[in-house]
Amino acid sequence: MMSLFRKGRAVIYMKIMPNRMDYGFLRYQEEFEQKALSVLRSGRYVLGEEVANFEKNFAAYTGAEHCVGLASGLDALWIAARLLGIGQGDEVIVQGNTYIASVMGITINGALPVFVEPDAYYQIDADRIEEKITEKTKAVMVVHLYGLVADMGKITRICQKHGLKLIEDCAQSHGALYRGKMTGTFGDAGCFSFYPSKNLGAFGDAGAIVTNNAELAGNARIFRNYGSEKRYYNKVVGANSRLDELQAGLLNVRLAHMAEITAERRMLAERYGSGITARGLLLPMERENTESVWHQYVIRTHRRQELMDYLNEKGIGTLIHYPVPPHLAQAYAGLGHKKGDLPVTEEYADTVLSLPMYTGMKPEEQQYILECLGAFR
Ligand SMILES: *Cc1c(COP(=O)(O)O)cnc(C)c1O
Repeated sequence: MMSLFRKGRAVIYMKIMPNRMDYGFLRYQEEFEQKALSVLRSGRYVLGEEVANFEKNFAAYTGAEHCVGLASGLDALWIAARLLGIGQGDEVIVQGNTYIASVMGITINGALPVFVEPDAYYQIDADRIEEKITEKTKAVMVVHLYGLVADMGKITRICQKHGLKLIEDCAQSHGALYRGKMTGTFGDAGCFSFYPSKNLGAFGDAGAIVTNNAELAGNARIFRNYGSEKRYYNKVVGANSRLDELQAGLLNVRLAHMAEITAERRMLAERYGSGITARGLLLPMERENTESVWHQYVIRTHRRQELMDYLNEKGIGTLIHYPVPPHLAQAYAGLGHKKGDLPVTEEYADTVLSLPMYTGMKPEEQQYILECLGAFR
């Protein structure tokens, strides 16, 4: 491709956002619009045929036996934890560098999050889990952050050895594989978000639990609908976390294209990986025997603010996932953590930067980003 630079100055200026959800819509526009119309005309809007189909399709996609559609990823996390018996007085092990929703999935139930540092792949450091296990530990919550994959071999062995529940937060890892097996199917429950910006995104809030445990699936089905199996006969105090027909229908459309959506992200990540040559930028790595789905492409640099400002000047938007780790969030001041408690987590929070990554990124957009990065001094 022809260089976009003349004597070091960009002559072509592009405006590139960190994420473009409209591109993902436009690619399958006709199918989305037809589905939306058919749901609107159906007269059935909550927990109907589209939801039942999506649950069947998504279970088949992940390889799990059951899928229960819910209203959000956070609901999937806290409802799974609740139904697995996690509550007041229990400890749940979770990585320090995650989106705060993972931690809220634990604390909503009155349980205590016990933070473990991440490894070089941004995932929970499996070698540092056992030192955090106490007699109060009930579960490990694994987050496949950025669409990369945690060391599930070691983690499942630890959970089996200590009799711990295993919950996977797959909000960023739809389709990601560990030794050919899909994330979300290694433990007791795989919790998914279909928030619009996720790899499998709806057009509003949506989530799901996948599991091979029929009892858990049945309980989740009851719990999401005010604890009732039969209308107006309530067995337990539940929640309203129903998935609606419109979202489920639109998810069915996108799910049919997931192979293409994932392959595209993997190609974009590969191009970043081979195209970024600037010194001082640390690139993300894919663990052996895993396939990442690249929800984010996260680099690290000690010159983050400088780089962000520079890219911003070139019209390229970037994001930080995440600037404040949960243990230092104001919301969790009550846990009594202080700066320095999780040095690796904090180092990542200070240096990570997510480059633009989305369905429908144009080759010239990525080329422009690479050229700008290459000219960063
Ligand atoms: C998005 C996300 C969630 C929460 O999902 P919502 O659907 O927004 O509730 C949980 N965990 C992680 C890691 C996420 O990225």
